[in-house]
Amino acid sequence: MYQNFSILIAEDNPVSGKMLEKILVQEGHKVIIAENGRVAMEKFNNKFCPIIITDWMMPEMNGQELCRAIRAVDRQSYVYIILVTANNEKQKVVTGLEAGADDYISKPYNPAELIARLNTGIRFLRLEESLKKANEEIRKLSIKDSLTGSYNRAFISQHLPKELKRAIRYNKPLSLIFCDIDHFKRINDTFGHNVGDQVLKELVRIISNAIRMNMDWIGRYGGEEFIVVLPETDIHGAYFIAERLRKKVEAMVVKTMEETISITASFGVSEFNHETGYEVCGYEELINVADQYMYQAKNEGRNMVK
Ligand code: GH3
Ligand code: MG
Ligand code: MG
Ligand code: MG
Repeated sequence: MYQNFSILIAEDNPVSGKMLEKILVQEGHKVIIAENGRVAMEKFNNKFCPIIITDWMMPEMNGQELCRAIRAVDRQSYVYIILVTANNEKQKVVTGLEAGADDYISKPYNPAELIARLNTGIRFLRLEESLKKANEEIRKLSIKDSLTGSYNRAFISQHLPKELKRAIRYNKPLSLIFCDIDHFKRINDTFGHNVGDQVLKELVRIISNAIRMNMDWIGRYGGEEFIVVLPETDIHGAYFIAERLRKKVEAMVVKTMEETISITASFGVSEFNHETGYEVCGYEELINVADQYMYQAKNEGRNMVK
């Protein structure tokens, strides 16, 4: 648990540096040595190190300045800094902690104490890591629809504008398919709400498998209404994909203990494109246009793409 961290040592005394390195390597860590704060900062900028052990007195840039330089930048991951002071420099501890050090140790080292303090830092970094993971989990949950696993409405309104911006910036088309299940109310009325839920899940699974991974995405716009977003795809491509999705949905079967259920869906397609002039102003309009075409498909008999 306490092994294999990259530790940056800033120490101008080579003997001290070597000794420190030996202790840390024995503990299973990777060590980078720099002969002063400036070089340490250079090495740190080349390769991130989660732990820094720094001497106080060094030429060019001392320990206090190094702490300040590290803390001056907002980073995604915390850097745990241990300051090394000679025994007669105790009064500098406060200054060092104020400059951003997390802990200190006195020279000459007591290896057991050094390791114990280092491990306190590692526990701190582990805690940060687990908090980050938890936050990431929460973020994932907050953008997904809990029933179907597709993106939710909040994600759509957050992410679709970004897709549109990207299309504008890189001069690429962006297409959207609006999909609404035909007579879905009947499924619920005939087979029950649970079966209806099963059908929604299966629809999302089928569509997700039929679109480009890491590029296209499906979002649940409302109850049985979904949008499929197709970056770098023009209206012809989108129409072609929508027709493929329509066939897949038509061929899909959901089996319960007693029944085998099939559905159809109606699709509408819209596009943002600089060149062909099918321009829409905003992401809402992109959805609305596709929605209107979907309604046309409903009016003309359902189970079709418009
Ligand atoms: P149309 O072909 O005109 O679209 O008919 P429809 O029955 O699909 O449309 P309508 O808007 O009348 O009904 C949508 C139904 O979707 C009604 C609602 O109960 C159902 N629904 C919405 N969300 C869910 C859900 O999460 N689970 C289930 N089982 N049903 C849902
Ligand atoms: Mg020194
Ligand atoms: Mg509907
Ligand atoms: Mg419907």
